[in-house]
Amino acid sequence: MEEKKGGSGRRIGRRSLILGGAAAAVGTGAVLTRDELSRLWWQVPGVEKPRVAGAVDYRGARWVAASSANWRRADRPDDYTIDMVIIHVTQGSFDSAVRVFQDPGHGAASHYIVRKDGHVTQMIRELDVAYHAGNRGYNERSVGIEHEGFVDRPQDLTDAMYAASARLTAQICRRYAIPVDREHIIGHVEVPGTDHTDPGEHWDWDRYMKLVRQAATTATPA
Ligand SMILES: [Zn+2]
Repeated sequence: MEEKKGGSGRRIGRRSLILGGAAAAVGTGAVLTRDELSRLWWQVPGVEKPRVAGAVDYRGARWVAASSANWRRADRPDDYTIDMVIIHVTQGSFDSAVRVFQDPGHGAASHYIVRKDGHVTQMIRELDVAYHAGNRGYNERSVGIEHEGFVDRPQDLTDAMYAASARLTAQICRRYAIPVDREHIIGHVEVPGTDHTDPGEHWDWDRYMKLVRQAATTATPA
């Protein structure tokens, strides 16, 4: 069983529900009514929030499911705190990235892929842990965003891509109260233990962070 960490607010022990009755005590001594329990059922460890097939976490993203071999089902941010966005460059075309993320033999995938024209595809729910960082702890705490292109081709990093990605990152930061800074928005290359170099030297961090900060002040809530 996974160690539960992070998270906030009230937690209901599985035992409380098993005991049942008119009301069940929670750890803090508070008492919840049946009504409250039915509303909070998904906060019980091991019970997941409801999911809707094809739903996306970012309005405007198109859903294409990654192979379930490339991510692990979770219940973030309740089982793992999300406090990081990790930026990648695909080293290939958008279509090839979608294809390999659908391939159960690939062993890796990110939550999102941003295309050169600014189109955003979501392939893994933010609830779940995507295998994108090559580091278990960083996978569990982050949302991964791939960008179509090659690290040695600066022309691949288009204005439309920067703008679309910045809007996406700004909204993720807003939803999980992630600070918009370089401690929390990092490149794959900065993940401890990685041998990946993306997003590469041509990724313009100053420009990107400025766009994220701008989007963060103008973005509408999800
Ligand atoms: Zn990467």
